[in-house]
Amino acid sequence: MCKFCKNKPVIFISGEPLCKRCFIHYFEKKVLKTIRKFDLLKKTDFDISVAVSGGKDSISLLYNLNKIALRKRKLNLTAIAIDEGIKNYRNLTLKTLKKFCKDNKIKLKIYSFKKEFGYTLDELVKKTKIYKPCSICGTLRRYLLNKKARELKLKKLATGHNLDDEAQSILINQFKNDIARTARLGPETGILDDSRFIKRIKPLYLMLEKEVSLYVSLKEFDISCKACPYSKESYRNSVKNFINDFEKKYLGTKYSIVKSFLEILPLIKKDYKQSKTKNCKKCKEPSSEEICNTCKILKNE
Ligand code: SF4
Ligand code: ZN
Ligand code: ZN
Repeated sequence: MCKFCKNKPVIFISGEPLCKRCFIHYFEKKVLKTIRKFDLLKKTDFDISVAVSGGKDSISLLYNLNKIALRKRKLNLTAIAIDEGIKNYRNLTLKTLKKFCKDNKIKLKIYSFKKEFGYTLDELVKKTKIYKPCSICGTLRRYLLNKKARELKLKKLATGHNLDDEAQSILINQFKNDIARTARLGPETGILDDSRFIKRIKPLYLMLEKEVSLYVSLKEFDISCKACPYSKESYRNSVKNFINDFEKKYLGTKYSIVKSFLEILPLIKKDYKQSKTKNCKKCKEPSSEEICNTCKILKNE
């Protein structure tokens, strides 16, 4: 029986049973608490962009931020989606996303790799010998989201990263000895105070992936459950399976990874504080090197 109302439980949270209604309440309250705990939305943050794909995380995020926006009239949301050009995948998630935004009267902007860079991701994957699909996809998507959010004069970019994603990123950087990248993680990303970089916030930071999945199914959101065809071959997928195995054997592993990381994050940020970035010589976007990673990928097509 549910801990609060004695209805039929749908999940156990920290060993306590919760019914559908109480779980939805718990989830939405936790999003608000996360925003407050990490001070993700300041009083002066009026125009916010939300990076969306149409998957479970971004739809849950968009729904919850829209709920806040409807209460707080001064918060304007613009959803930004990137169409990477992944056949039989992105077209499906974008279809559900368009419907969701229309039903909820949320502004949606879609930008495509093809139009912005001249190639779809599928085409770039076939051309390149050097880069892995997820590496191309992630670099180009981050670049475009930042550029477009800045051009639209939006203050922050909210992303649907959950606790599982963060735990994976922490371990991936550890395994690859890339602590400079670790310094850019956290509930509010970025180590630079540079207006050319739009600050990224993660309101689902403390939410487990299984909690997001359950929330989406209980709310009966219409989302495409198809996985990206490139996801299986990714490094992240191996780390994901590894952490999931550990979590099964040792409950609380994911929380421990993120909690211990948050304790040392201020020290890492201090040590890896970047000097001022330059502008990429080719595209003029901000970059830590002469030529940014996006231009390097496009050149090595
Ligand atoms: Fe892009 Fe890789 Fe994610 Fe597919 S799995 S959308 S290729 S980052
Ligand atoms: Zn209940
Ligand atoms: Zn560039």
